[in-house]
Amino acid sequence: MSGRNILVINSGSSSVKFALVNENSDSFPLQGLAERLGTEDAVLNWSFEGEKHLTSLHGATHKDAFERLLPMVQKASHGQLDGIGHRIVHGGAHFTKATELTPNVIEVIRNAAVLAPLHNPAGLIGVEASLALYPDLPQIAVFDTAFHQSMPARAYRYAVPEHLYTEHHVRRYGFHGTSHMYVSRKAAEFSKLPVEDSCWLIAHLGNGSSTCAVVNGESRDTSMGLTPLEGLVMGTRSGDIDPSLPNHLHRTLGWDLAKIESVLTKESGLLGLSGLSNDMRTLLEASQSGNDKATLAIEVFCYRLAKSLAGMACALPRLDGLVFTGGIGENADAIREKTLSYMPLFNFKLNNEANKKCIRGVAGVISAEGSPRVLVIPTNEERQIALETLALLNNRK
Ligand code: AMP
Repeated sequence: MSGRNILVINSGSSSVKFALVNENSDSFPLQGLAERLGTEDAVLNWSFEGEKHLTSLHGATHKDAFERLLPMVQKASHGQLDGIGHRIVHGGAHFTKATELTPNVIEVIRNAAVLAPLHNPAGLIGVEASLALYPDLPQIAVFDTAFHQSMPARAYRYAVPEHLYTEHHVRRYGFHGTSHMYVSRKAAEFSKLPVEDSCWLIAHLGNGSSTCAVVNGESRDTSMGLTPLEGLVMGTRSGDIDPSLPNHLHRTLGWDLAKIESVLTKESGLLGLSGLSNDMRTLLEASQSGNDKATLAIEVFCYRLAKSLAGMACALPRLDGLVFTGGIGENADAIREKTLSYMPLFNFKLNNEANKKCIRGVAGVISAEGSPRVLVIPTNEERQIALETLALLNNRK
């Protein structure tokens, strides 16, 4: 295949997700996931040219997984790999765009770990293993936070004492930046509008969810904050709560901070409300069969999403469209419909047939004539990471 190839790596504490992206194609010749690394049950799942494979990695480390990957990547890229793009969750306020991974940059990412204690060290394990194995290839960090560095201070500051911001970096950062950037550009392309003169509300709805206001290709506000816990109701995260709730739980139940954080991040959201599942598919089915708690979880999810979108509209001079993306946004027509039903003042009207058709990767306009534009655009974070890596490689030449 002609065109340059970029390997995209998303490394977690015990997993490595990877995709080989060719600049001329939306689909990936090779992609997969190494999971449970560091344990006896470590496995590698991958698909090559559409065929699925699975092998045990038995006690493998991140570096072992990369070693297994190497011949596959060589084969799939016909020996022509041009660079590696690493997803890094938190770039703090240092990184406004993708950046080449030099020892200096790695140190800054390490220092930003205070803001993302689980994610950044995990990302760096992947970076270090990959640098050891591919020392001659350009390797680039693409940050979830970078796209939101264009937010104005009125959107990113918390109303807390200033020294917490100036000395301790307490501010709103936002996440899912790669997805919001990709989807807003696609929405402009789809609507034949120039990105640099277009205004969008984006709802990225997956296991983690966030909204974003994008003006002329730049983020102006987003629902996640210092951490990904702020904002919408998510699979297992509570989203916004009364800031006094942790105190209340400590006073009344004696819970310590670790317990409170664990409950708010792992046992709340759709799972907490329904007592059944964090998976929207399961909840939609249960609600259909008369499960009241599943119905309530769906209603809270949609109402809170509608409130967030209405709030995000304050950052837009006009609205060219509202875009749904992410596993839920791309597949759940009922969630799109219910959310818009909670925003009557915006006059959104759906074309029911188009809404039902836009599932499983089908992009399209789902609004009826006369309504503000509503779109479904499948996100493709791997492709966006590859595009940013390629853009940086172009600038190097
Ligand atoms: P993501 O994190 O973007 O992979 O999205 C995961 C979420 O998408 C889960 O809550 C899934 O239940 C949801 N999802 C995927 N397919 C569907 C579907 N057909 N209908 C409703 N929700 C779906």
